[in-house]
Amino acid sequence: MNGKCIDIGTIQAFLDGETTQDDSLHIGHHVANCDNCARLLAVAEDENSFVFSTLDREMNALVPTQRLWTRINDSIEVGKARRPFWQNVYSFFAMSVRDRSMMAMAGLLIVFGLLAVVWTLQPAMVVTTYVAPTPAVRNTGTTAAPSSHEGTGVSEFKTDPSGIQPIRVSNHSPKKLEQIVGEANGPRVEHIIYAPGEESYIKTIADLKETVDYRKDEVFSGSSRVDFERDLAVVNDSIKRMQKIVRKNPNNQAARQILYASYQDKIDLLNTVAQKDELMATIR
Ligand SMILES: [Zn+2]
Repeated sequence: MNGKCIDIGTIQAFLDGETTQDDSLHIGHHVANCDNCARLLAVAEDENSFVFSTLDREMNALVPTQRLWTRINDSIEVGKARRPFWQNVYSFFAMSVRDRSMMAMAGLLIVFGLLAVVWTLQPAMVVTTYVAPTPAVRNTGTTAAPSSHEGTGVSEFKTDPSGIQPIRVSNHSPKKLEQIVGEANGPRVEHIIYAPGEESYIKTIADLKETVDYRKDEVFSGSSRVDFERDLAVVNDSIKRMQKIVRKNPNNQAARQILYASYQDKIDLLNTVAQKDELMATIR
């Protein structure tokens, strides 16, 4: 192998770590198969040995080929470290070509890398907000929606000819809205508009009735109890009829007079029971 043998200058450069990676690999392969060059290398190495430390003397105990490969590997590592970044990347991909899964992984890494770059470069202020379209409710009924909702916080409705009502955004708090919905779904409380002075009659009757209901079993004996219940039923019927008329037309003065008279009858009737109870209490 004399034709391709390595000159001493190249060997010295190799030992000094001044040869390229390709050259180092070539020298390594050649010396492994050429005894002459191996000897030449060993001699050159020994000539340099006086500068070596104790550690290196330990290495000298190894056989020349082992020392050689150690040196080659070292030079390869150094060469790799000196190469620019893009070259390392290139060699990585060149190696990966043989491995399909490595290629797939590399592709994924590139995609994620690009995404990361795009993400970080994107200005933070550009945030696209999706505004949901306003839902519409079909109003098939003939009754028009009230034009004003006092105190409900709902802005006015506008009914277009197609009967589609846009729902405005409410300014109520979630808690208030929940309350409104609860009231709407709950039992309907009849809002009775009383005639003037009517409420005091009703309150007096309610108070008396509480006493009478509690006491009537003690106050009445058999037949008088039946009479009382009959009179009460009559007066209650009268009150009910008159109430109906007055609710329909609060300005019906005659109906109101009869209603008040009926209330008074009931109060008198209940009072007889209460007075009887008092009388019995004094006798006892
Ligand atoms: Zn040789």
